[in-house]
Amino acid sequence: MPAGPGTGAVADGGSLGGRLESIRAELPAGVTLIVVTKFHPAPLVRELAALGVRDVGESRHQEAAPKAAELAGLGLRWHFIGQLQSNKAKAVRGYASVLHSLDRLSLLDALADPEAEPIEAFVQVNLTDDPARGGVAPADLAAFAERALGTPGVRLAGLMAVAGLGADPARGFARVRELRDRVLLPVAPHATGLSMGMSGDWREAIREGATHLRIGTAITGNRPDPAYART
Ligand SMILES: *Cc1c(COP(=O)(O)O)cnc(C)c1O
Repeated sequence: MPAGPGTGAVADGGSLGGRLESIRAELPAGVTLIVVTKFHPAPLVRELAALGVRDVGESRHQEAAPKAAELAGLGLRWHFIGQLQSNKAKAVRGYASVLHSLDRLSLLDALADPEAEPIEAFVQVNLTDDPARGGVAPADLAAFAERALGTPGVRLAGLMAVAGLGADPARGFARVRELRDRVLLPVAPHATGLSMGMSGDWREAIREGATHLRIGTAITGNRPDPAYART
């Protein structure tokens, strides 16, 4: 079963460092582990930094911005992984080096900025037939990639996907890899990234060639009440 938010394939036993190490031990060279810290307060991120974590993932601007500001001295790379409103795009670029959820043209346009340091952006692919799930439909990917390549201030990094609920994650991830190879690489040979794999399916993602894993609960334990993020 894929893990949804809060359902986590979670090891609540053990320590933060122990859970982190057991996942690190299985990572092939060259795979970036992003520890998803959404809903967790800044001190947990500080603990992770002390354990050598450099890449952290957040999904809500109103929560991520103050955390990134508070922890600015730690040399962390902030990855924005959640749905992003176009009117927050410029602000997110202020602290995030990587956006994993570039999912529509209006957001791409909002990110356009010839003056700014380019943000690394993964195009989120919708693996379901439901447009409401978010992400670019595979049929629209070629045109979207062309537009992204022509957008100043955006550097195309690759593709991102979330395995569909109830769907076989391995098949979904294989499809994303195939889309990267067939649609993306011919027009953007540098865009080799595959951001896929969460707490419940990261091993499948590695087998299908993931370059970036976004893992929360399997490392942090269950997330605190989401109300934290709204305060
Ligand atoms: C929350 C989240 C994750 C991490 O989920 P876990 O199941 O806790 O590992 C990964 N990717 C996205 C887009 C998320 O929103």
